[in-house]
Amino acid sequence: MDKVNILGVNVDTVTIEEAAAEIMKFFGEDKVHSVFTPNSEIIMAAYRDPEFAEILNRSELLTADGIGVVYASKILKKPLRERAAGYDIACRVLEKISGTEHKLFLFGGKPGVAETARDRLIEKYPGLNISGCRNGYFKPEEDGEIVDEINRSGADIVFVCLGAPKQEKWIDAQRDNLKVRVAMGIGGSLDVFAGTAERAPEFFCSHGLEWLYRLYKEPSRIGRMMDLPKFAATVFFKGKRYKQ
Ligand code: UDP
Repeated sequence: MDKVNILGVNVDTVTIEEAAAEIMKFFGEDKVHSVFTPNSEIIMAAYRDPEFAEILNRSELLTADGIGVVYASKILKKPLRERAAGYDIACRVLEKISGTEHKLFLFGGKPGVAETARDRLIEKYPGLNISGCRNGYFKPEEDGEIVDEINRSGADIVFVCLGAPKQEKWIDAQRDNLKVRVAMGIGGSLDVFAGTAERAPEFFCSHGLEWLYRLYKEPSRIGRMMDLPKFAATVFFKGKRYKQ
């Protein structure tokens, strides 16, 4: 797959549809495939933390979740065709696995969120097979028990929604213990599936203004969002030093 190197993070130049098709292929390969969807804040975090960059680059599929990453690819003259957000890819995968033997485990969010998401997803995607749910608040010593619960459920795909970088680090650390074929780190998606958070209205998404909507909804994100201008400036001044 073609990639664009954005400040040391190798992002796959795939569309939402291509990413979902790739994930369907992963089911046929006998190993854990991790799927991460970094936005510009996450790429800035990886720029500052080489170990985190390695975790991202070890994944089997890395797509651009955020218009900032799409703009960065244009500056680097390897334009991404579209923003391939984790939530959108997950929705396409849910459509594809509904009515098949594939089993999904929902892991993350506050207590009760995964269960509400399960009920709503089953309504929206008839024939979807959800083998288990687990909230995302746990102590490190519970990792083994959580992995066992996912494995025992017979799931071959797990949505890990712990926020970044926690979810990426958890998936990477548990790769050898998990029996699923696909582990996707998709942040706040469970909250959207459960209806406890809303996605930005279409206008904001299609005009590259989702960040503005999220800031309006959650003003406490301002600190994290200061990474956006830093990200743009770093890509502009330093991005071309990375080999494409
Ligand atoms: N979350 C979790 N465990 C934690 C921290 C966060 O399950 O220890 C969940 C949180 O409830 C939310 C999701 O992670 O559902 C994503 O959080 P946030 O919006 O901060 O992450 P983002 O997607 O913006 O990275």
